[in-house]
Amino acid sequence: MRIAVLSDVHANLEALVEVEAALGRLRVDRVVCLGDVVGYGASPNACCERVRALASTTLLGNHDAAVSGRMDYTYYYDAARQALDWTVRQLDPDHVAWLRSLPYTHRADDVTFSHGSPILPGDFDYIFAVEQARELAPHFPRLSPVTFIGHSHLCKAFALDARGDAEDLAGTHVLLDGTRKFILSVGSVGQPRDYDSRASFVIYDTETRVVDFHRVPYDIEAAAQKIFDADLALNFGKRLFLGV
Ligand code: ZN
Repeated sequence: MRIAVLSDVHANLEALVEVEAALGRLRVDRVVCLGDVVGYGASPNACCERVRALASTTLLGNHDAAVSGRMDYTYYYDAARQALDWTVRQLDPDHVAWLRSLPYTHRADDVTFSHGSPILPGDFDYIFAVEQARELAPHFPRLSPVTFIGHSHLCKAFALDARGDAEDLAGTHVLLDGTRKFILSVGSVGQPRDYDSRASFVIYDTETRVVDFHRVPYDIEAAAQKIFDADLALNFGKRLFLGV
């Protein structure tokens, strides 16, 4: 089976449309969305609608939790908090109810899906560096052989062994072989932060056990212009051009 895993759409319709087109070309059997469908971007309703149609499973991200009343976000920095307030005002009640219903994690066979770290998924802890991957060592026995995460908006692959060591695997074509356990961070569709402005997603082939990282260009100017025209901080548009 070929599973597409995407995350952190962040209400960026233009990026999501291009990812959908790419998934059509790449022939996938199943799509899983790891959360943060909304927040930062200017198209929350359209993105909820499309993700609901596209993904067989969608998980709860911290932004989704915030706008659907499942998480206090008063401690967020001003611009992020204002973007969440703006999103709450825009969202259709039906999409809010959907976001509120989303699970923190999903497990299918030997694969776990989670927005942030799978250990305490409601805490939305980040795993984007090998040191953070190493902190999972005490939990090694209960980790799935393969875990897909989002949240950091970075593309990363870590391999963990039973002795507690972790390796940062470079490359965009990763073979999940041997007895180690793997943490795959799939990057972001709508707000990449690795200085590559293209939308990101991965495809996992469960037969070959290969994860391929994909990037697709999209109409950044259109996405950014919508943010500039809305009552959102300009930086949420500007950063899309830089991929940060
Ligand atoms: Zn996010």
